[in-house]
Amino acid sequence: MTLSVSVTEGGRTLAARLPYEHVHGQAAATVRDRWADTDGFVLFLAVGAAVRIVAPLLAGKDADPAVVCVDEAGRWVVPILGGHAAGANDLAAAVASLLGATPVLTTATDATAVPALDSLPGFIAAGDVAAVTAALLDGRPVALDNPLGWPVPPPLAASFPALFRASGPHGPQARGELCITDRDRPSRPGLALLHPPSLVLGVGTSTDADTDEVASLVDRTLAAAGLARASVAELATIDRRRSHPAITGLALPVRAFTAAELATVPVPNPSVTVAGAVGTPSVAEAAALMAAGEGATLVVTKQASSHATVAVARRAGPRGHLTVVGLGPGHARHRTPAATAAVRHAQVVVGYGPYVDQCADLLSPAQEVVRSPIGDEAVRAKQALAEAAAGRQVAVVCSGDAGVFAMAAVVLEVAAGDPSAHGIVSAMQVMPGVTAAVAAAAVLGAPLGHDHALISLSDLHTPWDVIEARVRAAAQADLAVAFYNPRSARRSWQLGAACRLLLEHRPPTTPVGIVHDAARPGQRSTVTTLAGLDPGEVDMTTCVIVGASTTTVVAGRMVTPRGLPQP
Ligand code: SAH
Repeated sequence: MTLSVSVTEGGRTLAARLPYEHVHGQAAATVRDRWADTDGFVLFLAVGAAVRIVAPLLAGKDADPAVVCVDEAGRWVVPILGGHAAGANDLAAAVASLLGATPVLTTATDATAVPALDSLPGFIAAGDVAAVTAALLDGRPVALDNPLGWPVPPPLAASFPALFRASGPHGPQARGELCITDRDRPSRPGLALLHPPSLVLGVGTSTDADTDEVASLVDRTLAAAGLARASVAELATIDRRRSHPAITGLALPVRAFTAAELATVPVPNPSVTVAGAVGTPSVAEAAALMAAGEGATLVVTKQASSHATVAVARRAGPRGHLTVVGLGPGHARHRTPAATAAVRHAQVVVGYGPYVDQCADLLSPAQEVVRSPIGDEAVRAKQALAEAAAGRQVAVVCSGDAGVFAMAAVVLEVAAGDPSAHGIVSAMQVMPGVTAAVAAAAVLGAPLGHDHALISLSDLHTPWDVIEARVRAAAQADLAVAFYNPRSARRSWQLGAACRLLLEHRPPTTPVGIVHDAARPGQRSTVTTLAGLDPGEVDMTTCVIVGASTTTVVAGRMVTPRGLPQP
């Protein structure tokens, strides 16, 4: 939960432009009272005043909320607390984009090209992160110990000129040590750990297993083996226990397999009793190994308590993941929080250049960014699938919605012809976004208030006679129509042709809305009529919405009534 606090009229006006709960006046008392239950504060105060208010409340990096200050003129947004740990830098970027201000980031890793160890996608940092970061920033040698041979993210390797590959944990001149490990190591000054998501917990339970019993068996098992909980990527079990409270209570992503699948996995400790009861000789060991994938090893064999068994497998390498993200039409305020999180968590962000720019406020030096040229969507999809297959967390970004005339479909089309991609696409996530038709309709009023069709006029992938037949059908069905890809330099006559088809079935006075750059800087819109539409006004960043026969204009706004008069 984010709370904004203002004390002046200028601050109050700025705060009203933000989508956060807002309190005016009583800044010190408000911050104090809400400190414990607020994730982020946006204070319309001088930095000095804010520092005096928050100083007595500070508890520690892990507990304190994010605090950002905005100046009276709304020009600067300055995170003063929790830049990385509490997300204040991200909050500052979001506030700045909403206010048209500049974020002033003072955390050293954001001011240089050194990735922040505590927000490296795909790792959880622990230990003396501050000392190792300082050594890297100063260009002092840092020994990298990577006993698992886990892939070092290229931006990490590339942007650390000081990164010094020692033969062992103590390089001769190393001033700091960075260890990529799924083990817990005793903390000491100068040692930072990066925990990769390398471990899979296999869990079997009886129906009457108790949540606390299973949680404590897991804790004891990890502690006895010296394994870091932060490296546990997921929990694997048998399908019939997927929703058991003792399983879901562990707050890990759950993967479940059928008894028949588990029975195929060779394990060190098969049990005849378990086979008789559930149809597979092993649940914990088999599920851990199966989920951990090819090349996995069992690092902890079956450990049992009275109603549960636990085993731990280690993956041979990272498991890749693909998310196709709809960024919305333009402005960050129309981007969903889920889309924002998906871009932030990606190691590799792939997209057509302008779409990458559209989420520039979310990108960090720790991420690899692939800006693709226009066209060649299939090449982009194959590249994203290949990156995910190589074990990386990949986000493909699209404008608007991820699946409306966009990359989610392309990825699945490519996968249809490539069975080796099925593992990735079966787990692929698609993050929806506000599509152009909806953004444009909102600008115009409510032209999509009743049944409607979305039609792309691009004949690059669809023959014109098919498009024509669809426009004709929409005309006959009296649907309002939103045209995507209405006109480009090479496709200039299609919109006029489509309008003539619609004119055969609806009056020349039918309202038409033209929206350029909906919800982006430079947004422009006009409302005209079907007979009066000038296709010359339309280009590739335009969405054209043609009303149905019932559509009217009220005070300059288009409306298609929700129903038709009853006969
Ligand atoms: N996935 C996108 C659509 C991509 S097709 C979405 O869901 O919105 C590209 C077409 O979408 C453009 O030619 C234009 O017709 C339309 N479009 C995309 N963003 C737009 C915007 N902000 N304003 C107006 N039209 C837009």
